[in-house]
Amino acid sequence: MTEVSLAQRLLDGDRRALARAITLVENDRPEGWALVREVYPHTGRAEVVGFTGPPGVGKSTLIGALTKARRAAGRTVGVLSIDPSSPFTSGALLGDRIRLSEHFLDRGVFIRSMANRGALGGLSEAALQAALLLDAAGRQDVFVETVGVGQAEIDIIDHADTIVLVLMPGSGDSIQALKAGVMEIPDVIVINKADHPLTDTMIREIRGVLSLANLDRTPEQLRGIWRVPIIKTEASRGVGIDQLVAGLAAHREHILGAGELEERRGRNLRNEVLAIASARMRRRLEEELREDEHFQRLLDEVVHRRLDPASAASELLERAASAATPGALD
Ligand code: GDP
Repeated sequence: MTEVSLAQRLLDGDRRALARAITLVENDRPEGWALVREVYPHTGRAEVVGFTGPPGVGKSTLIGALTKARRAAGRTVGVLSIDPSSPFTSGALLGDRIRLSEHFLDRGVFIRSMANRGALGGLSEAALQAALLLDAAGRQDVFVETVGVGQAEIDIIDHADTIVLVLMPGSGDSIQALKAGVMEIPDVIVINKADHPLTDTMIREIRGVLSLANLDRTPEQLRGIWRVPIIKTEASRGVGIDQLVAGLAAHREHILGAGELEERRGRNLRNEVLAIASARMRRRLEEELREDEHFQRLLDEVVHRRLDPASAASELLERAASAATPGALD
C-alpha cells in the first residue's frame, strides 16, 4: 500500500486506514508525519471537545452517553481516550473501556485509546496528530478524554475547542483541582453522579470559586464574557445529557460569534508548532552532545560547583549558535 492511497482511504473515512494512521503517529513514524502533512488541509471541520477530571468521576460513561446522543442526531463521532500516566499500550486500555462497548459495532463511532510511550515530544503531540487524523477522516464530533487533571492532561485537551471539566460530589479532589488553577481551563463544568446528596453543596462551592475569578473584572469586561455553566448529570442513566448537549452547543455558538474559535485555534496551533520545534531542538542538541568532550567538561564544572547551571546553558547555546553559523561569532 502506498502512502497516497492510505491518505486517500483516510480522507474517504475508511476506519482501517484511520486506525493504521493513528498507530503511525503514535509510534512517531515518519510515514505518520507525512500522512498528517498530506491530509492537514482537510482538517479544521470537526468540533473537538476535551474532557478532563479525576479518575472515577464518570468521564467515559459520560462520553458514552454523549456519543449516543450525537449518533441519534446523525453525527459521526471519534473518541480519543488518553492516559498520560499509563505505561500500557492501546489494547490493554481499550479492554477496560466496557462503557463505550455498546458503540464498538457502530461504524459511525471510532474509539481509540492512547497511553504514554515516553516518546520525546510526547503524548500530547501524538494525541493532537491523532485528533487531526480523525478530523480529516470526516468525524464530525471528536471527543478527547484525558485521565486526571495534571499539566500533561491540560496540554492535551488544550487543543480542544471546548473544554469540559467533569467532577463528582463528595470528592475533595474535585474542589482541590478547581482551586489549583484548573479553574482557568474549563468552558463547561459537569457534576456527574448528581443523585448524590452533596451535589448542591458542591455546586455552591464551585460557584464560589468561579466568582472569585471574576472579582477583578470590570462590568465592561464581564459583559459578553462566557459564563461557565455547571451541568448536573447522571451519566449511567442518561440524565442531564440533553442539557450537556445544549451547553456544548451554546459554547460553540459563543466562540463562533465572538471570533474566539479562530483565536483559540490560532493560539493552540502556535503552541503546537513551538512544542514540536522545541522537542526537535532538544533531540538534536542531545544527539550532538552525546559524545561532546567540551560538554562533559562543562558538566564537570557544574557538578563541582565551579560553574552554575544557567551559565553552562548559556555557554552551550553560544557554542551551538556559532557551530550553526560558522564564523558568526568570530
Ligand atoms: P472515569 O474514570 O472518569 O472515566 O469514570 P467511569 O466512566 O469509568 O465511571 C466510574 C464509575 O462510576 C463506573 O462504575 C460507572 O458506572 C460509575 N458512574 C458513572 N456515571 C455515574 C452516575 O451518574 N451515577 C453513579 N451512581 N455512578 C456512575
